[in-house]
Amino acid sequence: AKQVAPGSHVFFNQEMADEIQERLRISNDLQQALANNELTLYFQPQQRVSDNKPVGVEALLRWLPPGKTPIPPGVFIPVAEETSLICDIGNWVLLEACSSFDRWQQAGIKVGSLSVNISARQFHSAGFIAHLSLLLQQYPSCRQHLILEVTEGVFLENLTESRSRMAQIKTLGVNISIDDFGTGYSSFAYLRELPVDELKLDRSFIQYIDQRPQDKAIIACLLNLARTLNMDVVAEGIETQQQLATLSELNCPSYQGYLRARPMPEAELIEWLKPL
Ligand code: C2E
Ligand code: CA
Ligand code: CA
Ligand code: CA
Repeated sequence: AKQVAPGSHVFFNQEMADEIQERLRISNDLQQALANNELTLYFQPQQRVSDNKPVGVEALLRWLPPGKTPIPPGVFIPVAEETSLICDIGNWVLLEACSSFDRWQQAGIKVGSLSVNISARQFHSAGFIAHLSLLLQQYPSCRQHLILEVTEGVFLENLTESRSRMAQIKTLGVNISIDDFGTGYSSFAYLRELPVDELKLDRSFIQYIDQRPQDKAIIACLLNLARTLNMDVVAEGIETQQQLATLSELNCPSYQGYLRARPMPEAELIEWLKPL
């Protein structure tokens, strides 16, 4: 049997208590942050593999507490997802992203598509479709450009309900993308049932595409699947020229990654998009 030091269970409980305390603190601070305008959106460009032509941007949330180091979304999004706070934040993100996009359209700046991350709780929340519909009345320029990124986890609970939601979303002129595709537990069956427009290939498949033949084979297979099902594909997390060359060889349509551009504030994006 495992040797347990005397009193170590007390330490473990303390650790758990600290963890809960920490989450509570983040959750409280986050509510304040939303009210105090400490949240902002960065935008990461996406481009075509064949010629690097910009095809869109993904909005990525940033929490910049004044005078402190930025808190990465990987830390605060999971905490927000435990409560309905994620819906308030998510709706704010949608509003902010659409108003930015509308500004760009007005200024004649072409960005292509606008991708926004939607968490499962937000997607299934009662007011979501109504919020989206109102938003598109306010910013009609976003119609046919807005793409909602959801993870496979969204469909695990209730496929029928998900299907009818997605149909409503499609009616509004909004497209749907599966984020982190291939990393979840789901089978491919839902792809047959749901109106999916785009797959985002997770960085974990891309990272070793040039070292592991298995990874390259999986990517090639997913690209074939997407082609057959008439879905667009964005490969995530491209950091090297070699990775890009391999994606080009496999005829991947588009990509996103530090090799080309990091997520950046709106003002920088405008500069970045200006032709040389
Ligand atoms: P994600 O949706 O998979 O977003 C891609 C993440 O990969 C972003 O991290 C992006 O900055 C990072 N990335 C892009 N290119 C590269 C690369 O070449 N190399 C590496 N190492 N990383 C790259 P970020 O911005 O820290 O966001 C992390 C996650 O937080 C996102 O993953 C998404 O799940 C979540 N998130 C961000 N913004 C929102 C939001 O507004 N709503 C919701 N629900 N989730 C969000
Ligand atoms: Ca995403
Ligand atoms: Ca990802
Ligand atoms: Ca696209």
